[in-house]
Amino acid sequence: MPETGELSARIGRGRNTTRATQIYAVSPDTFLMDTPGFTSIYLQGVAADDLKGYYPEFDRYAPECRFDTCMHYREPGCAVKMAVRDKVIPAERYQNYIDLYAELKERKPVYD
Ligand SMILES: [Zn+2]
Repeated sequence: MPETGELSARIGRGRNTTRATQIYAVSPDTFLMDTPGFTSIYLQGVAADDLKGYYPEFDRYAPECRFDTCMHYREPGCAVKMAVRDKVIPAERYQNYIDLYAELKERKPVYD
């Protein structure tokens, strides 16, 4: 298994532009890469529809969503979104979910 570590890359010439890429191990087969070269985080091995499983604070509200298949994204009657509006789920946390969800949705599935 690869180790969590830090990669450094020097970009540019003669300027102080050293950047670091952080890789975080989320689970044994899932890594988060955070790099200044990209505004987004790349989640390997996570399907968009499974992402909500990484947000346990949603679990309490999800059963109240109008649709069983609710992704807490653009669906009407979403109890998670209501919990965010009521500030019981931090907006930052929800925004993080939405950003990742939208990104994962755009990506081609790893498996069919
Ligand atoms: Zn929902």
